Amino acid sequence: MLYHIEILSFGDDLDAEILEAINILNAVQSDFEFALPPERLRSFGYNFVREEYVTTELWEQLEAYRKAARGPRPYLIAVVAQKLRSHRYKNLFGSRRAAGGFAAITLRDWHLYADFHRSFLCYYFIRYALSFVNPSIKAHVETLDCLFDFKGNKHDLEKSLSSGRICQQHTQELNGALNPETKKSVREMVSIMKAQHATSTQTLPAKTLKKATQIGIIAIRPDEFSAVLEHFPERRSAEGRNRFYEHARIPVRDGAEIGVAITKSFEQGQVAAQAAANDMIRELAPQWILLVGIAGGIPNAEYSLGDVVLSSRVHDFSVSAALEGGKLEHQQQGGPAHIEVEKLLAYLPAKEHLFKTWNSAQSLGMERPVETIPEEPDDRYYGDEKWKSSVHNSIEANFAGRAAHRPPRYVVSPVMTANTLVKDTELARQWGQSARHASAVEMELGGIYVAARHDGGGSTRVLAIRGLSDIVGYKRSPEWTAFACKSAASLAYALIAAGLIK
Ligand SMILES: [Zn+2]
Repeated sequence: MLYHIEILSFGDDLDAEILEAINILNAVQSDFEFALPPERLRSFGYNFVREEYVTTELWEQLEAYRKAARGPRPYLIAVVAQKLRSHRYKNLFGSRRAAGGFAAITLRDWHLYADFHRSFLCYYFIRYALSFVNPSIKAHVETLDCLFDFKGNKHDLEKSLSSGRICQQHTQELNGALNPETKKSVREMVSIMKAQHATSTQTLPAKTLKKATQIGIIAIRPDEFSAVLEHFPERRSAEGRNRFYEHARIPVRDGAEIGVAITKSFEQGQVAAQAAANDMIRELAPQWILLVGIAGGIPNAEYSLGDVVLSSRVHDFSVSAALEGGKLEHQQQGGPAHIEVEKLLAYLPAKEHLFKTWNSAQSLGMERPVETIPEEPDDRYYGDEKWKSSVHNSIEANFAGRAAHRPPRYVVSPVMTANTLVKDTELARQWGQSARHASAVEMELGGIYVAARHDGGGSTRVLAIRGLSDIVGYKRSPEWTAFACKSAASLAYALIAAGLIK
């Protein structure tokens, strides 16, 4: 790292926006290191509130910060959200005093000229970093589609954000000051700035999305993955070390934006799911990981095929002992959900008005299939008589009479997980004895749970959102698989868009 550039918010806490842009630029090169102030001085400028900022005042503030922070701090940038002016010009996007190592940027009007605050900030961070490298660089008043156009005509900014061009004269001036490595770093920064533009279809490096990904979604099967993607039509592709992600930015109720990264496990089972979660946590560090897809249901009158289970606890039966005579004994692992997951799930009934359309046929993209009630005994049931009877009760309660046309519902309950596709009623009964309130059984949650505890340092919240495509003890019609994929994906999307998962 050759240039350490610190960026401070003045008049407000703008650190989230700054951090997003910083992370993008730092992820693609290592000659310029952009950073927020150390924790003890993070809020240094928050209370310096002005209706309009004059650059000389900001230079004084940055000077005071330099003194307070101590240590070598040659390059400082102030970011404000109000009007910015100098003694010569009013209404600037940004200004600099390169000799002092100072620059200032306002976020006030970016939306009039740029499509995203992050490309706007990336642009100015690069521009001022270069003017720190070569303080003699001056802007030119004429528009040459150059990074160093004065931007007196504010629409020149939009041009620069998508072209990233630097004119011949300025290229020469920079060449004198940059070594070959730094030159490459500048190229990388300009290229990733262009990639932020709304019209860009470039695949983004996953690590540039680290500060812009609050939620990760992992799907296992191709049909689960497609069902999730259908709900996030506007997205960008990102490439990580071992996998690709689809990244969407979802506007939520309070005007904020939530970044969602979606990936698919390479195959079924705990190990592949754990690897997907490990990669996601290291590359994108989401606060939440949602495991969205299908599961098998334990027969119950309260819920059935197509309904969605939200996991409040994990009962992991992956570890077993094979005993003489073919008997299997399982050691139960897993544990409770993260406290934030419990908090959300306990509160959901009070917030249903915020996501109530999740189960409409329109949101689901499909009508709930019709299930006929078998006459007893029926070859669609399997298991012993007691199990068959509870299957029958479940099917009747959820598909007879008016229930035949009810929309899917969600259930909050523990989930059983193992590396076994459970179609055996005896095994389900055995597990159920130590997981009495579990309503679903699936094959990946245990792995994701472990990844979150280890790689996520216990701070990653894990929630399985599982549509019931099967009931253990019942041979259902095949269309339930597609429907269960869609009901899980629709509920996941609705909870995110309602701003409930953050
Ligand atoms: Zn130029």
